[in-house]
Amino acid sequence: MSFEMLPLPYAFDALEPYIDAQTVDLHYSKHHATYLKNLNDALAKHTELQNLSIEQILSDLNRVPEDIRTTVRNNGGGYYNHNIYWAIMGPNQGGEPAGRLGEAIRSTFGSFSSFQEQLEKAGLGRFGSGWAWLSKRPDGSLVIHSTPNQDTPLAEGMTPIIGVDVWEHAYYLKYQNRRAEYLKNWWNLVNWEEAERRFQQTS
Ligand code: MN
Repeated sequence: MSFEMLPLPYAFDALEPYIDAQTVDLHYSKHHATYLKNLNDALAKHTELQNLSIEQILSDLNRVPEDIRTTVRNNGGGYYNHNIYWAIMGPNQGGEPAGRLGEAIRSTFGSFSSFQEQLEKAGLGRFGSGWAWLSKRPDGSLVIHSTPNQDTPLAEGMTPIIGVDVWEHAYYLKYQNRRAEYLKNWWNLVNWEEAERRFQQTS
Protein backbone atom coordinates (compact mmCIF):
# COMPACT_ATOMS: atom_id res chain seq x y z
CA MET A 1 0.00 0.00 0.00
CA SER A 2 1.16 3.51 -0.66
CA PHE A 3 -0.31 6.91 -0.02
CA GLU A 4 -1.93 8.89 -2.82
CA MET A 5 -2.50 12.50 -3.76
CA LEU A 6 -5.95 13.67 -2.79
CA PRO A 7 -7.53 15.45 -5.76
CA LEU A 8 -7.37 19.22 -5.50
CA PRO A 9 -11.02 20.16 -4.77
CA TYR A 10 -10.95 23.14 -7.17
CA ALA A 11 -9.14 24.40 -10.28
CA PHE A 12 -5.62 25.83 -10.08
CA ASP A 13 -6.97 29.33 -10.71
CA ALA A 14 -9.84 29.04 -8.21
CA LEU A 15 -7.95 30.81 -5.44
CA GLU A 16 -7.25 33.92 -7.53
CA PRO A 17 -6.68 36.73 -6.82
CA TYR A 18 -5.39 35.77 -3.37
CA ILE A 19 -3.19 32.89 -4.51
CA ASP A 20 -2.31 32.83 -8.20
CA ALA A 21 -2.88 29.83 -10.47
CA GLN A 22 0.81 29.24 -11.17
CA THR A 23 1.60 29.06 -7.46
CA VAL A 24 -1.22 26.60 -6.82
CA ASP A 25 -0.15 24.46 -9.78
CA LEU A 26 3.52 24.31 -8.77
CA HIS A 27 2.70 23.92 -5.10
CA TYR A 28 0.30 21.01 -5.64
CA SER A 29 1.78 19.31 -8.72
CA LYS A 30 5.47 19.66 -7.79
CA HIS A 31 6.07 20.42 -4.12
CA HIS A 32 3.23 18.38 -2.64
CA ALA A 33 3.62 15.54 -5.13
CA THR A 34 7.35 15.31 -4.37
CA TYR A 35 6.73 14.99 -0.63
CA LEU A 36 4.36 12.14 -1.41
CA LYS A 37 6.80 10.38 -3.72
CA ASN A 38 9.63 10.61 -1.19
CA LEU A 39 7.32 9.32 1.55
CA ASN A 40 6.22 6.32 -0.50
CA ASP A 41 9.79 5.56 -1.57
CA ALA A 42 10.88 5.52 2.08
CA LEU A 43 7.95 3.38 3.24
CA ALA A 44 8.55 0.86 0.47
CA LYS A 45 11.61 -0.28 2.42
CA HIS A 46 9.57 -1.02 5.54
CA THR A 47 6.49 -3.11 4.94
CA GLU A 48 5.76 -3.20 8.70
CA LEU A 49 4.43 0.37 8.46
CA GLN A 50 2.11 -0.29 5.57
CA ASN A 51 -1.08 -0.77 7.54
CA LEU A 52 -0.74 2.48 9.44
CA SER A 53 -2.56 5.69 8.56
CA ILE A 54 -0.49 8.80 7.92
CA GLU A 55 -1.88 10.21 11.19
CA GLN A 56 -0.68 7.14 13.11
CA ILE A 57 2.76 7.36 11.57
CA LEU A 58 3.23 11.07 12.26
CA SER A 59 1.78 10.90 15.78
CA ASP A 60 4.50 8.50 16.88
CA LEU A 61 7.63 9.00 14.81
CA ASN A 62 9.63 6.96 17.31
CA ARG A 63 8.12 3.78 15.93
CA VAL A 64 9.37 4.66 12.45
CA PRO A 65 12.68 2.86 11.78
CA GLU A 66 15.62 5.16 12.28
CA ASP A 67 16.97 4.86 8.73
CA ILE A 68 13.84 6.49 7.31
CA ARG A 69 12.66 8.54 10.30
CA THR A 70 13.90 11.93 9.11
CA THR A 71 12.63 11.31 5.59
CA VAL A 72 9.21 10.33 6.92
CA ARG A 73 9.14 13.27 9.32
CA ASN A 74 9.87 15.75 6.53
CA ASN A 75 8.05 14.17 3.59
CA GLY A 76 5.22 12.47 5.45
CA GLY A 77 4.71 15.76 7.24
CA GLY A 78 4.78 17.59 3.92
CA TYR A 79 2.24 15.18 2.45
CA TYR A 80 -0.12 15.46 5.44
CA ASN A 81 0.19 19.23 6.03
CA HIS A 82 -0.62 20.03 2.40
CA ASN A 83 -3.65 17.72 2.41
CA ILE A 84 -5.06 19.94 5.15
CA TYR A 85 -4.00 23.20 3.49
CA TRP A 86 -5.81 22.43 0.22
CA ALA A 87 -8.89 21.07 1.99
CA ILE A 88 -9.45 24.08 4.21
CA MET A 89 -9.25 26.62 1.38
CA GLY A 90 -11.58 27.32 -1.49
CA PRO A 91 -13.09 29.98 -3.73
CA ASN A 92 -15.84 32.22 -2.36
CA GLN A 93 -14.92 31.45 1.24
CA GLY A 94 -13.61 33.50 4.13
CA GLY A 95 -15.75 35.54 6.47
CA GLU A 96 -16.33 34.62 10.09
CA PRO A 97 -16.89 31.05 11.24
CA ALA A 98 -20.30 30.18 12.64
CA GLY A 99 -21.19 27.04 14.54
CA ARG A 100 -19.32 25.43 17.40
CA LEU A 101 -15.88 26.25 16.05
CA GLY A 102 -16.74 29.95 15.72
CA GLU A 103 -17.97 29.94 19.30
CA ALA A 104 -14.86 28.15 20.56
CA ILE A 105 -12.59 30.58 18.69
CA ARG A 106 -14.33 33.62 20.14
CA SER A 107 -14.34 32.28 23.68
CA THR A 108 -10.70 31.15 23.52
CA PHE A 109 -9.16 34.16 21.80
CA GLY A 110 -11.56 36.93 22.81
CA SER A 111 -12.80 37.78 19.33
CA PHE A 112 -12.44 36.60 15.77
CA SER A 113 -10.19 39.55 14.91
CA SER A 114 -7.94 38.84 17.88
CA PHE A 115 -7.72 35.22 16.73
CA GLN A 116 -6.75 36.40 13.24
CA GLU A 117 -4.06 38.69 14.64
CA GLN A 118 -2.58 35.90 16.73
CA LEU A 119 -2.51 33.39 13.88
CA GLU A 120 -0.90 35.94 11.54
CA LYS A 121 1.66 36.68 14.26
CA ALA A 122 2.46 32.96 14.53
CA GLY A 123 2.99 32.79 10.77
CA LEU A 124 5.08 35.95 10.63
CA GLY A 125 7.16 34.87 13.60
CA ARG A 126 8.16 31.58 12.03
CA PHE A 127 11.76 32.20 10.97
CA GLY A 128 12.49 30.42 7.70
CA SER A 129 9.98 27.82 6.60
CA GLY A 130 7.04 26.27 8.38
CA TRP A 131 3.39 26.53 9.25
CA ALA A 132 0.97 28.39 11.51
CA TRP A 133 -1.89 26.37 12.95
CA LEU A 134 -5.12 26.42 14.83
CA SER A 135 -5.09 23.06 16.56
CA LYS A 136 -7.01 21.19 19.18
CA ARG A 137 -5.32 19.84 22.27
CA PRO A 138 -6.25 16.39 23.59
CA ASP A 139 -8.53 18.07 26.19
CA GLY A 140 -10.50 19.72 23.37
CA SER A 141 -9.18 23.25 23.88
CA LEU A 142 -7.94 25.34 20.95
CA VAL A 143 -4.40 26.60 20.54
CA ILE A 144 -2.53 28.73 17.98
CA HIS A 145 1.00 27.54 17.31
CA SER A 146 3.65 27.22 14.65
CA THR A 147 5.75 24.30 13.45
CA PRO A 148 9.10 24.50 11.63
CA ASN A 149 9.73 22.90 8.22
CA GLN A 150 7.13 20.14 7.67
CA ASP A 151 6.69 19.19 11.31
CA THR A 152 3.07 18.52 12.16
CA PRO A 153 0.81 19.32 15.12
CA LEU A 154 0.26 15.54 15.39
CA ALA A 155 3.86 15.08 16.55
CA GLU A 156 3.06 17.44 19.44
CA GLY A 157 -0.08 15.50 20.35
CA MET A 158 -2.42 18.03 18.78
CA THR A 159 -4.98 17.82 16.00
CA PRO A 160 -4.75 20.51 13.33
CA ILE A 161 -8.02 22.27 12.42
CA ILE A 162 -6.65 24.83 9.95
CA GLY A 163 -3.09 25.57 8.87
CA VAL A 164 -1.37 28.10 6.67
CA ASP A 165 1.83 27.31 4.80
CA VAL A 166 4.43 30.04 5.26
CA TRP A 167 7.17 28.47 3.14
CA GLU A 168 8.21 30.96 0.47
CA HIS A 169 7.02 28.53 -2.22
CA ALA A 170 3.46 29.19 -0.98
CA TYR A 171 3.50 32.89 -1.82
CA TYR A 172 6.75 34.12 -3.40
CA LEU A 173 5.62 34.38 -7.05
CA LYS A 174 2.82 36.77 -6.20
CA TYR A 175 3.91 38.37 -2.93
CA GLN A 176 7.73 38.08 -3.10
CA ASN A 177 8.93 38.79 0.44
CA ARG A 178 5.57 40.13 1.67
CA ARG A 179 4.50 37.24 3.89
CA ALA A 180 2.27 39.53 5.97
CA GLU A 181 0.21 40.47 2.91
CA TYR A 182 -0.17 36.81 1.92
CA LEU A 183 -1.37 35.99 5.43
CA LYS A 184 -3.90 38.85 5.44
CA ASN A 185 -5.29 37.80 2.05
CA TRP A 186 -5.35 34.13 3.01
CA TRP A 187 -8.36 34.73 5.27
CA ASN A 188 -10.46 35.22 2.13
CA LEU A 189 -9.89 31.56 1.27
CA VAL A 190 -10.58 29.78 4.54
CA ASN A 191 -13.37 27.23 4.20
CA TRP A 192 -14.95 27.44 7.64
CA GLU A 193 -17.42 24.67 6.90
CA GLU A 194 -14.57 22.26 6.35
CA ALA A 195 -12.82 23.61 9.44
CA GLU A 196 -16.01 23.03 11.46
CA ARG A 197 -16.19 19.48 10.11
CA ARG A 198 -12.61 18.83 11.19
CA PHE A 199 -13.27 20.37 14.59
CA GLN A 200 -16.34 18.22 15.24
CA GLN A 201 -14.85 15.06 13.77
CA THR A 202 -12.01 15.18 16.24
CA SER A 203 -13.98 16.18 19.33
MN1 MN B 1 4.06 24.06 0.79
